[in-house]
Amino acid sequence: MKYVSTRGEAPVLAFDEVLLAGLARDGGLYVPESWPQFSTADIAALKGLSYVDLAERIITPFVGDSLSAAELEAILSEAYSHFETPEVAPIKDLGNGEHLMELFHGPTLAFKDVAMQFLGPLFENVLAERNEHICIVGATSGDTGSAAIEAVRGRDNIDIFVLYPDGRVSDVQRRQMTTIDETNVHTIALDGTFDDCQDALKALFNDTAFRDRMNLSAVNSINWARIVAQIVYYFWAALKLGGPEQPVSFAVPTGNFGNVFAGYAAARMGLPIDQLIVGSNANDILTRFFETGTMAMDGVEPTISPSMDIQVSSNFERLLFELYGRDGAKVKQTLSAFRDTGAFSIDADGLAAARELFDGARYDDIETKAAIGQEFKASGELLDPHSAVGLLAGRARRKNADTPLVVLATAHPAKFPDAVEDASGQFPALPAHMADLFERDEKINPLANDNAALQSFIEARVKA
Ligand SMILES: *Cc1c(COP(=O)(O)O)cnc(C)c1O
Repeated sequence: MKYVSTRGEAPVLAFDEVLLAGLARDGGLYVPESWPQFSTADIAALKGLSYVDLAERIITPFVGDSLSAAELEAILSEAYSHFETPEVAPIKDLGNGEHLMELFHGPTLAFKDVAMQFLGPLFENVLAERNEHICIVGATSGDTGSAAIEAVRGRDNIDIFVLYPDGRVSDVQRRQMTTIDETNVHTIALDGTFDDCQDALKALFNDTAFRDRMNLSAVNSINWARIVAQIVYYFWAALKLGGPEQPVSFAVPTGNFGNVFAGYAAARMGLPIDQLIVGSNANDILTRFFETGTMAMDGVEPTISPSMDIQVSSNFERLLFELYGRDGAKVKQTLSAFRDTGAFSIDADGLAAARELFDGARYDDIETKAAIGQEFKASGELLDPHSAVGLLAGRARRKNADTPLVVLATAHPAKFPDAVEDASGQFPALPAHMADLFERDEKINPLANDNAALQSFIEARVKA
């Protein structure tokens, strides 16, 4: 399997090269040259497999020659051994054909672990083979940073530096990063906002001399290997709920469009999916797009579902590439206009094609809290605010009551305890493996928002 860029100009790469490259050199995102195909009989034959075995079957065609079957198996076994349950993504019945797929049983209590835990051993394997060391740098508004740290902690060929906005992440989120005592893990409390962190990160990557000297790498949500790991649980849920004979629908609380794009990939691979319903908070650029065919930037509004507080959904470019019939030049032109004017529109046919599968709905914080309270009363399930947005959107946009609806629960309620307690009257306890989080020692590294200071911080700590 080879990978091509959504902007059509970067070199065609293999899976391991795409993993290390992250963004394509033409500014595009890598996608598979063609979608692996699973017939109905192929999918039916996957019924009853364990999560790890299913993951191996789904991921194998994407890997090509980059890993042997034994290597992939070892990577997946390690990745999912760090989950609270071997099911990895347990599914709960909420009644009325609604199901909650809990994706938060990994080390940091958010769905990002499902992909990041795969990335950790995958990076280690690929780097060991090449005898290379990388320096992963990332900016986080909360969930990504801790998931990335947990995935690569203690690994020989990797140093990780995570920038977070000082005072602007929750206590749980900060402690999940600052209490990790490993020589290859470095956190930075930047004096600034999340946007400042992202700008600082961009500046590091734009300094080519520094980038090459440090062998900088990124694990943000555009990394193709993350999408691959997320495709698995769409198959997992469908197989548990009558698929492939019975189509299913998914409701996905969405920010960067990475999670729900994996659902789109599953559909393109042959999994019968009826609907992919996007849930937005007040930052509703995607829902507006699926309503109108126009993508228009707006300011970012802080909400109680902060992992969806984004202005532009970077992974959307992958869908655009497909809607444009894989015309990279057209994607490039559209996105450059988008950068200049803050908006672009697709034509009626393109919108109709997108709407065959996608729909979206938007909810503000008041509606989200009401849904948390109501669901707790109705079923005893305590939802985090992101998952509640997904449930609301799924309920509102579900077209067919006979089609099972799977709502992706993307975070454990204890990750957002204040909003959850406020909404339900119930304080969500941390799971046992994290019960002592507030007793662990924190190591905080405050840093001015200054590029030179950041570079020296990294240079002083990175392993030779
Ligand atoms: C990152 C995140 C999301 C958004 O996922 P995308 O792939 O960016 O759409 C939703 N919920 C939680 C809890 C997250 O951490």
